[in-house]
Amino acid sequence: MTKAIYPGSFDPVTNGHLDIANRAAALFDELIICVYDVPLKSLMFSTRERVDLMKKSVTHIPNVRVEPYTGLTVSFAQKVNARVLVRGLRMSSDFEREFEMALMNKKLAPDIELVCFMTSLEYQFISSSLLKEACQLGGDISNLVPKHVAVALAEKFGLPQK
Ligand code: ADP
Repeated sequence: MTKAIYPGSFDPVTNGHLDIANRAAALFDELIICVYDVPLKSLMFSTRERVDLMKKSVTHIPNVRVEPYTGLTVSFAQKVNARVLVRGLRMSSDFEREFEMALMNKKLAPDIELVCFMTSLEYQFISSSLLKEACQLGGDISNLVPKHVAVALAEKFGLPQK
């Protein structure tokens, strides 16, 4: 049985993240989406909110569960007995960052393998940060995230519900 983790900040979860989660869940026996507690970037949603938004988004995938984590990603993978770390790639700058992290992770935990999924064309331009920016400025992001995430974003920005 191959268990994989899909780590990220997910601030908030987008359709791009869900595309990767769906595809990874089809490939591995069990997928744990792990929500990083304190990334080195400022966040809009609390860990609890990010976990809840993600949980609501993946109820239709039976072999997926969602958990918060803190500390080293590879240590979390070892703790839950996952052999595979899943990440998504949108563009060459993602590749450079992932490549660097992968080499460090390999040094720290040689038993963990990285599997990167190329983004699907329709999600290539979606990032949580750009999405928040567009939403704050009144852009319609409703087809880029699940409905409950659009509602949560509108609430955060004090925008009228569409
Ligand atoms: P992190 O802060 O760890 O980069 P993110 O929540 O931004 O966390 O992203 C988690 C993972 O999902 C990363 O591997 C990122 O490249 C990937 N990802 C984000 N958006 C997309 C997308 N639209 N298509 C494919 N992969 C994506």
